[in-house]
Amino acid sequence: MRKWLQHISNRTARRLTLLLAAAGVLLLGTAVWLTLSMEEEPATLTTFAMGSYVQQTVYGSQGEEAAQAASTAVTELENRISWRVEDSDIALLNQEAGKDFQEIGSQTWEILQTALQVCQQSGGAFDVTIAPLSWLWNFDENPHLPEADTIAAFLPQVNWENVLLGEDNTAALKTSSTALDLGAVGKGAACDTAVAVYQESGVDRAVVAVGGSIGLWGEKPFGDPWRVALRDPATDGSLGELALQEGFVSTSGSYEKQFEEDGTTYHHILDPDTGYPAQSGLVSVTVWSSSGVLSDALSTACFVLGLEDSLPLLEEFASGAVFVTEDNQVYVTENLQDAFSLTAQDYTLAGTL
Ligand code: ADP
Ligand code: MG
Repeated sequence: MRKWLQHISNRTARRLTLLLAAAGVLLLGTAVWLTLSMEEEPATLTTFAMGSYVQQTVYGSQGEEAAQAASTAVTELENRISWRVEDSDIALLNQEAGKDFQEIGSQTWEILQTALQVCQQSGGAFDVTIAPLSWLWNFDENPHLPEADTIAAFLPQVNWENVLLGEDNTAALKTSSTALDLGAVGKGAACDTAVAVYQESGVDRAVVAVGGSIGLWGEKPFGDPWRVALRDPATDGSLGELALQEGFVSTSGSYEKQFEEDGTTYHHILDPDTGYPAQSGLVSVTVWSSSGVLSDALSTACFVLGLEDSLPLLEEFASGAVFVTEDNQVYVTENLQDAFSLTAQDYTLAGTL
């Protein structure tokens, strides 16, 4: 009898356990389903600024307002830092070059401060006073090969040490022939600006892309990483992807803007040492950093420096990179080794740096 009762109770206990387990699975499943289905559709917004599309995907109840606010903030930033905008901070500094310190916006001042650090640490491979040369080559409107003599004459005007940062948001250019072009950091700075708006707006998470720069904000559900597709420099397809939890990613590539003259192809990333397009054996560099200005400045700097000389610079700024060489080899810094996966067939993952 006791045995029989025990048998029943064992069976009941087993059934109860099974039932409870099934209920548990069901509950968990419902919870996951609820979380997923309660996930609102993100707000998406595409606008145009800094000569590029500004593409935003913003999650959270404030998504739409935040995307609009970020778009406005990016346009305001452009009006501060573009040399093309007549009354921008940069236009003012260029106009008053060789004269007194000028008052500029705090955002412009901070961008200049970070950019100048990269100028210094890159030994001038990245140089915010590239303007006389970038205007000469005129990649945006009427690209052409300048006379060698003219390039040589303009070269001494390119020197970041002629940029003076004062206190209280002031700056000056030391000589009248110095001029600023923040083209290499503008899009990254725009990502910083958008992310600052997301932070203030309390949105759940968001991703912003401005040309070749991307800003990631917030965490994806279940700890999933953001997946940032990298472009195959030779086609419009994908080279591979970076799976990242956070940060900013910028790519500089010779394919972005180029023209051909007398059978030679010239691209828009200039070597301040020669005055000609940088020839470092690279076709693209993607940099991952803690800020958009940094990733953008570093991607340009690394493109000029080439693979080996880029490594100390990346280390200095706690950043990582994916390099693509002219002979289709892909190199990844150690800190991005696990995050990067190569998908394009025509390339070889040559090694970790
Ligand atoms: P993109 O503007 O295509 O995203 P980059 O961020 O690499 O590419 O910036 C290239 C732009 O930066 C050029 O169009 C020019 O305005 C400027 N530039 C070119 N060479 C340099 C350089 N060595 N240092 C700083 N700025 C540069
Ligand atoms: Mg750049």
